Amino acid sequence: MDKQCHSRETKQGNYLFTPPPNIPGGPMVVNDAIWEECGFCGQQHLSPALSRALQELSIQRQGLLLPARNKQLTILLDSANRALSISKTHERSF
Ligand SMILES: [Zn+2]
Repeated sequence: MDKQCHSRETKQGNYLFTPPPNIPGGPMVVNDAIWEECGFCGQQHLSPALSRALQELSIQRQGLLLPARNKQLTILLDSANRALSISKTHERSF
């Protein structure tokens, strides 16, 4: 119950968000965002669209860590396939 927050101001512009340390890449900026800020205590009230945009950015950033793992998996699969085809060739030659 924050009674002081009656003095909300609608803000529009580039919203700067500093994500938690587990999200790489530093601060995020959402262009043309709309949010409300309390002129009394400074608390920000994000619109659903803005919070969704920030969530998607966080997911994208964390997703950047995935391709390296996928590549490694592909290499593993490749060598497994090659091993399989070699053993098949041997079977045929017998
Ligand atoms: Zn407030």
